[in-house]
Amino acid sequence: MQIAKDVVALIEYTLKDDSGQTLDTSVGRGPLGYVHGHGNLIPGLEAQLEGKSVGDTFKVSIPPAQAYGERSEEAIHKVWRRQLPPDAEIKVGMQFQAQSEHGTQVVTVIGVDGDRVMLDGNHPLAGMTLHFDVKIVETRAATAEELQHGHVHGAGGHHH
Ligand code: ZN
Repeated sequence: MQIAKDVVALIEYTLKDDSGQTLDTSVGRGPLGYVHGHGNLIPGLEAQLEGKSVGDTFKVSIPPAQAYGERSEEAIHKVWRRQLPPDAEIKVGMQFQAQSEHGTQVVTVIGVDGDRVMLDGNHPLAGMTLHFDVKIVETRAATAEELQHGHVHGAGGHHH
């Protein structure tokens, strides 16, 4: 079965940055399952998977516009220390989840100046060209329930 809309695919992948450093990989974790055509993956990767079959492998470099977008200065905010959890030790580089009008997002502390804290709400992979190495290990039709939920159940997906 070729990968097309409403097909479930399980893929093995390794993601590297421009310098060749591994940022993420399915190795040791098992393949990632997704429902094709439902926005589960970044657009640049989903486009490359279209039409592929089990056993196919490919490498692709995806620019920020087709991945997590460009970095935005508007996503950088200064807040008061007291607006952050009182029990957390705030240090540059630490990340935590914050609620915003866009849902849950990862926020990174990029500066601490007395009781002012600089937060960066850009996705950690924003502005980066992503280099993927992908192998398709399984394809099957999505179940009605998976289509309704928009994600994979069972192996490689959600368990609930
Ligand atoms: Zn579900």
